Amino acid sequence: MASIRDDETPSATGIPSTERRTDGEALPPLDVSEELIRALPKTDLHCHLDGSLRLKTILELAEQQKVKLPADTEDGLAKAIHMGENAGSLEQYLTAFDVTLAVLQTEEALYRAAYELAVDCAAENVRYLEVRYAPVLHQKKGLKLTTIVDTVLEGLRAAKRETGIKTGVLICGIRHINPHTSLRLAELCVAYKNRGVVGFDLAGAESNFPAKDHKEAFQLILRNNVNCTAHAGEAYGPESIAQAIHYLGAHRIGHGTRLREDGDLLNYVNDHRIPLEICPSSNVQTGAVADLASHPLKFYFDYGLRVTINTDNRLITDTTVTKEMWLVHKALGLSLEDLTTIIVSGFKSGFMPFREKQDMLKAVNAEIERTVAQFQQRNVKQMKRPA
Ligand SMILES: [Zn+2]
Repeated sequence: MASIRDDETPSATGIPSTERRTDGEALPPLDVSEELIRALPKTDLHCHLDGSLRLKTILELAEQQKVKLPADTEDGLAKAIHMGENAGSLEQYLTAFDVTLAVLQTEEALYRAAYELAVDCAAENVRYLEVRYAPVLHQKKGLKLTTIVDTVLEGLRAAKRETGIKTGVLICGIRHINPHTSLRLAELCVAYKNRGVVGFDLAGAESNFPAKDHKEAFQLILRNNVNCTAHAGEAYGPESIAQAIHYLGAHRIGHGTRLREDGDLLNYVNDHRIPLEICPSSNVQTGAVADLASHPLKFYFDYGLRVTINTDNRLITDTTVTKEMWLVHKALGLSLEDLTTIIVSGFKSGFMPFREKQDMLKAVNAEIERTVAQFQQRNVKQMKRPA
């Protein structure tokens, strides 16, 4: 099992084998199913708060707040935000946020969005969730940045009390706003370090808004030993990924879809074990790849890169981690062993303290083994049942 994928601690990550034997009885190989993927413990490291609301919640919030939406039914609203459809470009995809942000300008709305998102993640067995958003986009009705951050953290804490899901917040600077605003947001992030905020990100339109313009914000982040990631290589080429790593000091890369165009940089990312936060369906919808079958995820994984699978925007992309894993299994032929390795990479790549991560990995590995064994036993019972 010691392969290039099990880079640091091969024995500690012990990926379950599909040929596993229990009670001395040979068990049949296990087919990947959506039900099995849902049952496995997972992470979602790349998930935008303002892109992951429930449709029903947007409608209810709009009614309470007397906000006019482009439609007043769930179906109509789904169409208006091009939910789950190919938008053609990142800029076009981002227009859906005008709708979601219109109702996310009050404390009540922010609390509810954060709470419901974490509850929905827990329902599909996401055990560790990193939620990202740019507080500056929630000030249209005058909320203070600190109130916004506190309220989202409260919503996440409520979900944790109820479901046990562990969460962390990433504060986003926005490429197409301005570098000064990114610096203000970085200061906010630094103040909330160890108080629920676990990192900083750079999001927004990638073309024409180079990462290096936001270097000052990232310098503040790095000087304060805060974790950071950046969207890069999604709507622009590998130069954008190089800037994220070398100018911003990004510890992870959001997407990295176009990394395959630069072999040297690809090897740098691999050698430094820089995790890629891959969001397969979102990449199709923004036009970063033509379709799932041509997504570089499997190539990256086979080559040894540390890849993770994430949702990006549960509402706008119309997805869950379970669905993303099921889709890449079907489109790219990732096996159960591949998927469990990627799941473990997700837990390894979370912005959480190393010792906490070790404890979580131990529990997760045991749970993966247990879950796979349960599904195998169930198959045996079904096979033995008289016709
Ligand atoms: Zn994103």
